[in-house]
Amino acid sequence: MMGRSPDFLNVIFAAWAGASDFFAQDRPEFKQNVSNYYEYIRENDLTLTHALLNLQRRRGASATDTVSEEVALTVVKETGAGVVLRGSRLLATLGPISDELAIYHAGNHRMDEEAQRQSFALSIPCDTPGLRFLCRESFDVGRSHFNHPLGSRFEEMDATIFFDDVLVPWDRVFLLGNVDMCNRIGSATQSQGHSGHQVLTRCLVKAEFILGLADLMVETLGSGTVPHVQEQVAELITQRDILKACLRASEADAAPNQWGVMSPATAPLQAGRAQFGRTMYPRMVEIIQLLGTSSLMALPSEADFDSPFAPQLNQYLATDTSNARDRTKLFHLAWDASCSSFSGRQVLYERMFGGNPLRNAMTLFNTYDKEPFRKQVRNFLDSED
Ligand SMILES: Cc1cc2nc3c(=O)[nH]c(=O)nc-3n(C[C@H](O)[C@H](O)[C@H](O)COP(=O)(O)OP(=O)(O)OC[C@H]3O[C@@H](n4cnc5c(N)ncnc54)[C@H](O)[C@@H]3O)c2cc1C
Repeated sequence: MMGRSPDFLNVIFAAWAGASDFFAQDRPEFKQNVSNYYEYIRENDLTLTHALLNLQRRRGASATDTVSEEVALTVVKETGAGVVLRGSRLLATLGPISDELAIYHAGNHRMDEEAQRQSFALSIPCDTPGLRFLCRESFDVGRSHFNHPLGSRFEEMDATIFFDDVLVPWDRVFLLGNVDMCNRIGSATQSQGHSGHQVLTRCLVKAEFILGLADLMVETLGSGTVPHVQEQVAELITQRDILKACLRASEADAAPNQWGVMSPATAPLQAGRAQFGRTMYPRMVEIIQLLGTSSLMALPSEADFDSPFAPQLNQYLATDTSNARDRTKLFHLAWDASCSSFSGRQVLYERMFGGNPLRNAMTLFNTYDKEPFRKQVRNFLDSED
């Protein structure tokens, strides 16, 4: 249930190191900086967070973000020691428990040409002087694993970051001032494909977990002969199999990229990711709610089973297939996956973490080679058969 296990950013830096010649196109020394940094985080087993977005004072309809120096992270000075940054960034998931903070551009939050002082790729320790992390309210509220099985285990705090004249040493700078290269960093290095593979692997495991949860709920409630219950579980099976097919296709069609690094095929990864965030995961959570209904609310706490009330709980909450305690434990999990504040953030995360879905769709529309399919239709229209 964690979106940002440390392997997410590890694969991005592995891809950057594999494509280190890309960074040399900005300044020759940046190539070595990327390679050294990759080795440093690998050898020291470091965990990274990243913050790719600027806070915006207003939002426009254009394909680029609205950058204003009052709030955007901006280079205010270059010195012999490095670059000095002031401003803010969103949204560092896992931020407060990470070792290092990476800053670069998201492909779907592009910058305008004049945003040179807001364009860079770099990484610094999270305890660098001048950095502040503003955390949201925690979903781990100190309850037991029985009561809050997910929130008590998988809180991956999201943080807004403020930079108060933070010095980034030169050896931690990978790109600087080159808006076009910053905008293209994910696609040009193919780090997008590698992180996409990590993401889709995670989505598949999550889909399998939801399927297993749903099936156990059905068994516990004894609702497995109800046609629409079967239909809903079948929908989860189909979703799981689509994700598996996309992941397998990305591996089967893997090929060396222009930097000589074996890379998964991006089209099936894109397809699986987009569907998971936009429709599949919100629907999976809805199905858990539909299957569970009032059992998601009729939930004693763990302590209630050690109270004088326990005999009644054991009598009234047992089903034909489950005792009261096991049923309650299972439905606490279903509640934490579909009704709790932890689950609400999960749905938001899956919808948004890969960037604004609308802009992703626009990019797909504008870059996908649709000509072969148009040709089929034209051939049909021209045919006299
Ligand atoms: C739980 C969670 C965790 C996240 N973790 C990270 C992280 O670890 N690192 C990181 O860098 N980012 C992270 N993000 C940020 C994520 O990438 C963004 O939420 C996403 O890219 C959308 O950007 P935004 O939130 O700034 O949307 P906003 O710019 O606030 O836009 C809000 C909505 O307005 C509309 N909109 C506004 N402007 C436009 C436009 N120009 N074109 C089209 N539609 C527009 C869209 O419908 C959009 O969804 C996380 C987000 C969430 C919710």
